[in-house]
Amino acid sequence: MRDVGSKLTDFRAGVTAVDCDYVRPKLAASHLVVDGGRAAFVDTGTTHSVPNLLAALAARGIWRGDVDWVLTTHVHLDHAGGAGALMRELPNARCAVHPRGARHLAEPSKLIAGSIAVYGEKRFSDLYGEIVPVDESRIFIVGDGTRIRLGARELEMIHTPGHALHHYCIVDRANEMVFSGDTFGISYRDFDVEGRAFIFPTTTPVHFDPEALCRSVDRLMSYRPRSIFLTHYAEVTDLERLSREMKERVLAYADLGARCRDAADRADKLRRGMFAMMASWLDAHGFPRDDGERHRLLDDDIELNCQGIENWLDRT
Ligand SMILES: [Zn+2]
Repeated sequence: MRDVGSKLTDFRAGVTAVDCDYVRPKLAASHLVVDGGRAAFVDTGTTHSVPNLLAALAARGIWRGDVDWVLTTHVHLDHAGGAGALMRELPNARCAVHPRGARHLAEPSKLIAGSIAVYGEKRFSDLYGEIVPVDESRIFIVGDGTRIRLGARELEMIHTPGHALHHYCIVDRANEMVFSGDTFGISYRDFDVEGRAFIFPTTTPVHFDPEALCRSVDRLMSYRPRSIFLTHYAEVTDLERLSREMKERVLAYADLGARCRDAADRADKLRRGMFAMMASWLDAHGFPRDDGERHRLLDDDIELNCQGIENWLDRT
């Protein structure tokens, strides 16, 4: 059997983070949630991630037929690119998706074209491989407040625009936890300092909306969770501080965008400004590594974030 030991991290209440092996270790997680012998995946990574997800089931003694749900928080390809390939392996699962995302999963050509525009053809195929459509009859459309069963637990889906219009988060009230996809930003474990997490927003094209994103963060916090599970990467606690910093940083991004709006070298100015801003936050956080390491860990996100902010500037 494939050795997945190092790729699984167990948390409370039957939650396991599975490393999707996307770009680098511990960059993207799929969360396996098990309750009373039934299972769900929250986000899937890419088609390349599917073997890790299946190995996680085997490692936890779950039969593929006992997976009831594949929950895709939104259809960005690092979250749902593997949904079609995964669904082929799970005979009884339904794939839950926001109404705006459903057609993209059933017919992914527009999604593929959009991602090639962001990444270029070569990088796209390295990152995502083949995108398998999800059989339309197995798609479950999620409304705001839709509740589903997983074993003995109830999961509530709530719409959370701001990162993407078609984004929903999953609330487990009884276990005081939320699965946030990209709505609660990014917190790579590489940046932990003495157990304290570092957080920043992700503003990937083409739906960034700073005010909506801050409202969505407040909405997640209104459930008073003890843990939030981020796709990038896994559990964070200390949520009062992190939610405050998230909202401050969303506004700081928007502010930076506004200051660069009319610059002749807008794209460069924005990217330099964002790195400088992130570096100052990392300094305040006590992160000891130098600029080389910071660029290695942040440059992909800075590029995506700046593309999203430029798209927002052009829309508003
Ligand atoms: Zn996303």
